[in-house]
Amino acid sequence: MLDFDFYSPEEEIVLPLYEECGIRVFVKRDDLIHPYISGNKWRKLKHPLEHARKENKSLLVTFGGAWSNHLLATACAGAKFGFRTYGFVRGDVVENPVLKLCQLFGMELHFVSREYYRDKKALFYTHFANSKDAYFIDEGGYGLLAAQGCSEVINELNGRYDHCFCACGTGTTLAGLAIGINNRQWPTTLHGVPILKGGGFIRDELTKLGVVNQAQIRLHLDYHFGGYAKTKPELIEFIKAFTRQTSLLIEPIYTGKLFYTVHHLIAQKQIARGSTVLVLHSGGLTGLLGTLNRF
Ligand SMILES: *Cc1c(COP(=O)(O)O)cnc(C)c1O
Repeated sequence: MLDFDFYSPEEEIVLPLYEECGIRVFVKRDDLIHPYISGNKWRKLKHPLEHARKENKSLLVTFGGAWSNHLLATACAGAKFGFRTYGFVRGDVVENPVLKLCQLFGMELHFVSREYYRDKKALFYTHFANSKDAYFIDEGGYGLLAAQGCSEVINELNGRYDHCFCACGTGTTLAGLAIGINNRQWPTTLHGVPILKGGGFIRDELTKLGVVNQAQIRLHLDYHFGGYAKTKPELIEFIKAFTRQTSLLIEPIYTGKLFYTVHHLIAQKQIARGSTVLVLHSGGLTGLLGTLNRF
């Protein structure tokens, strides 16, 4: 087994709005799992790494943008569990704190144009065709094994909730939560908040990841604030107020949009009085490093 002990409690957040609306909101603190193998990135890496180990693969090859939480998590997990790591980075050569950390953890970086970056399998097979050691991990950790790891969040919960929320990039985390909820046969409504524009594609990804019944899943397509890594002053103000009131750090790329959505739906009375809500804090706080100038 390739694992480590971590701490991810469920904590209640008490805010005047939630109290007024008679709703109890809890956060699953996956942000506390590890500072760099953060949140859902550990959930997604766990089973692929076990698989890589079983197949005697010693080199993890993966993909990400220049601020990718997934690249950083893979670099650090590689260092922790004794794999070499190689990251294809999308776009022009740049330096930033996240990529520096990746290199400190021993990851070899290779920048590729946006055009070449698109076909990950082709990149992998052209660079590692002759390697017996290389193990492919998709961008963002996307995949079936990854979804399985995310489903384990649900097994850890103390009780069931009426609503459960997570942020969506590839949709793998949402798929995992759906699988977990389905396994326990909870009547929970699962809410996904795509942080990309045009997040309707998440439904197809859910299907590909084995989530057949999507009747209990709602996607909130209007909370992307302009698209991936885009922000608006309203989002920044929300993050500042939320952090001041709760002590929870959130960032503008994923969890800021997630908690904003929860707040907004509650304020609009779209969640019934008396409900319990669980929000998955999927970590990714290094996202703050690339967005500090917006605060
Ligand atoms: C990567 C990431 C996500 C997106 O997860 P998917 O499984 O790709 O949908 C959500 N939140 C944070 C903090 C992330 O780093």
